Amino acid sequence: MPKGRKGFQKGIDNPEWMGNEVGYRSLHAWVSRTLGKPNRCQECRTTEVPSGMRGYFQWANISGHYLRIVEDWKRLCKKCHVRFDRKGHLNRKVGRNNTSGHTGVDWHRSNGKWQSRAYINGKRIRLGYFRTKEEAVRARNNINRQ
Ligand SMILES: [Zn+2]
Repeated sequence: MPKGRKGFQKGIDNPEWMGNEVGYRSLHAWVSRTLGKPNRCQECRTTEVPSGMRGYFQWANISGHYLRIVEDWKRLCKKCHVRFDRKGHLNRKVGRNNTSGHTGVDWHRSNGKWQSRAYINGKRIRLGYFRTKEEAVRARNNINRQ
């Protein structure tokens, strides 16, 4: 039997990122499992739950892309969550398609990596794909210093 054959079975790409396609409900389950149950609001900083209110603190998605990464979620109370969803996604300073909050750094769902890009003299330069956002931002910052 040819030696190369064995590795052939391992062809399923990156199973940990296949979760990007899961539904909203199981995504929220993932957030609660990974980050815990929210018990305060990062916006108004309250920790008090109005009496009788259940599920007052919630996980809000930051980018609007519902990424399966912890950086894309924040704790909000019900009030702030409603306000955030109404205004937040529209008032974003970076481009609508920007998923990182950093100019030139975007999440690529297809390969589960962060892409870093820069514009130099009007030309778009690809700086490559990175496993973590920090690496992508660093690559981008290095360009700015040159
Ligand atoms: Zn709040």
